[in-house]
Amino acid sequence: MIVRGVAIALDFGGTKLAAGLVDLETGAVYKQVQERTPAEGGRQASLKLALQMVREGLLENADDARSAPVPGASSPRLPVVGVGVSFGGHVDSARGIVQRSMHVSGWEQFPLADYLREALSLPAFIENDANAIALGLKHFGPGKEYHQFMYVTVSTGIGGALVVGDDVLRGGRNLAGEIGHMVIQPDGPLCSCGKRGCLEAVASGPAIARIAQRAWEEDLKARGAGRGKKVKFQRAEEVFQAARAGDMLAQRVIDEAAKHLGRGISYAVNVFDPDCVMIGGGVSRSGAEWFDTVVAEVRANVLPPVAEELQVIRIQEDIGAALKGAAALIRARALARR
Ligand SMILES: [Zn+2]
Repeated sequence: MIVRGVAIALDFGGTKLAAGLVDLETGAVYKQVQERTPAEGGRQASLKLALQMVREGLLENADDARSAPVPGASSPRLPVVGVGVSFGGHVDSARGIVQRSMHVSGWEQFPLADYLREALSLPAFIENDANAIALGLKHFGPGKEYHQFMYVTVSTGIGGALVVGDDVLRGGRNLAGEIGHMVIQPDGPLCSCGKRGCLEAVASGPAIARIAQRAWEEDLKARGAGRGKKVKFQRAEEVFQAARAGDMLAQRVIDEAAKHLGRGISYAVNVFDPDCVMIGGGVSRSGAEWFDTVVAEVRANVLPPVAEELQVIRIQEDIGAALKGAAALIRARALARR
């Protein structure tokens, strides 16, 4: 189905703000501007910068925001259909309200959709980043092939989204798909949410580094060489590097993290029965063995017909993934109205 025009797409991330003009038919990102999230000034500073990026960077200070200059498109100006936002935090998508940011102060209960609607005189919709990226995969990426799929992102945290048809499943409190806070190890390490042993606390990038560092310290102590604490593993990437170089402790930590992740995914798969699971995020790019272990563990723990037919694929979100996702939000709304 064709949805013509472009969306103004905004990505409020923890470290960066991005804005782009995205074609609603193809997902092509025609123009993209990016800035660091202001370190001070909280929400007000981020909003001010975001609007400046849209007005100056995307719309070239045009008086009318309802059409935008689009280099390389079929016509020099295209109608702007709406504003879509991917937000790094908890979002009440139906009401257009940010509940809280994971990174920036002052966002609690802020009506971001209304604010943008007034500032730009365009319809505006907001969504959390994992849901937005999953929508982008659905409308402009490999998700086109599947009626229902699960997206799991493994990086500093573990997030997820469930796509059914053209839209994501949001649940009663916009927390559907939060696979990262599934308790995998009830007596395990403390999670950012306050519980113990969440998937995020045992299988995310920081968790892999922390668990490897502790295992290494214990190993030193056991061998009577524990004097003068040193830090060997600060980032997951260092653990993956050591594993590739043959470090058995690093290999064991990664293997365990991958199995935890695979098991967590398998529980969600048994409930949701998706056609495909797409795994992305920084950690997923670190090692083929890690991915193979995750997939084997998923297949070992799901019902037999699912184990045979389920697709599990690794995806690489590019820098425009959240912008495409923000635009897909507009597209999903437009399709839902028809
Ligand atoms: Zn948690």
